[in-house]
Amino acid sequence: MKEEFILSKDLETELELKGVSRRDFLKYCTATAALFGLSEFEFTAGIARAMETASKKPPVIWLEGQDCAGCTIAFTQILNPPASSIILDTISLRYHETVMAAAGHFAEKAYEETLKKGGYVLIVEGSVPSADDRYCMIGGRPFRKILEEAAAKAGAIIAVGACATYGGIPAATPTKGIGLDKALPKKTVINIPTCPVHPDRLAGTILYYLATGKVPELDKFGRPLMYYRELIHDNCRRRGHFNAGEFLTDWNDPKQKEWCMIQKGCKGPLTHADCPIRRWNDGINFCIDCGSVCNGCAEPGFYAQMTPLYTAEAETLKKIYAQNEKPDKENT
Ligand code: SF4
Ligand code: SF4
Repeated sequence: MKEEFILSKDLETELELKGVSRRDFLKYCTATAALFGLSEFEFTAGIARAMETASKKPPVIWLEGQDCAGCTIAFTQILNPPASSIILDTISLRYHETVMAAAGHFAEKAYEETLKKGGYVLIVEGSVPSADDRYCMIGGRPFRKILEEAAAKAGAIIAVGACATYGGIPAATPTKGIGLDKALPKKTVINIPTCPVHPDRLAGTILYYLATGKVPELDKFGRPLMYYRELIHDNCRRRGHFNAGEFLTDWNDPKQKEWCMIQKGCKGPLTHADCPIRRWNDGINFCIDCGSVCNGCAEPGFYAQMTPLYTAEAETLKKIYAQNEKPDKENT
């Protein structure tokens, strides 16, 4: 018989106050546990424990380097806050330059106190300039130094978005932005790429860490396997057209509207992410179903190696062509 998880009265009341039913909470925990290959009971218990021990809220420090704040916006503007974001309300965001209520010395004090205690979750958005520290100074100090200091006593380090993971757009600028994989070579960094970060992937990863105290299984680029195991190409609904050799070459031809966009620069065959299944904006849509190519923003090498974005001339496209020989015939 299936084990029934019993929530404490306090937790049930807290969820109720936030508009999340017991059923939705358990449903979310079950789905996330399954994705990470954990026992649903163990995962739910871990999350419930983390929520109930309010005094031990895991502190989070969120730093921003060379970024556009797009990942912050993506994470804070979920249309219909799901159980995950309600659960994350219980973590305490001690320092976030964009959204924290405190400012000036109060903000700095909160940061320093959290740093002193250690064991916090460090989330980083934005890249680190490698050409010259002066490209990114915060309060008169190089971002690189601030990052190294914050990473030293962190319990877990999570890089969010294309810039913090592998350099992103700033890597293609004179600042020669690098991701945490290069800026903190001796640390284990959980990379959650895409431009911007997908809120589900960040929420699920934080929750996994809270529930188990461990880093989830990562691929060779430091990405949680559960979100980045499969190729966009393998779950794309245009794949049948790829197999049939039907390629969109003219944006204005209605007959080609649903055809494969590889000749327009789609990097789906080399990009690992669950975007076609998870989708964006609370599951509404994603790039390819909106009529855009996949620009490979989940991969190291985005942006420089993926450009030009909408033609088949990018370096990455040459690799895709080489792998598939000729993508103008049956290729399964
Ligand atoms: S190349 Fe792009 S559009 Fe074509 S099937 Fe693959 S992912 Fe879909
Ligand atoms: S479909 Fe491709 S370009 Fe779009 S978000 Fe996913 S990885 Fe990035």
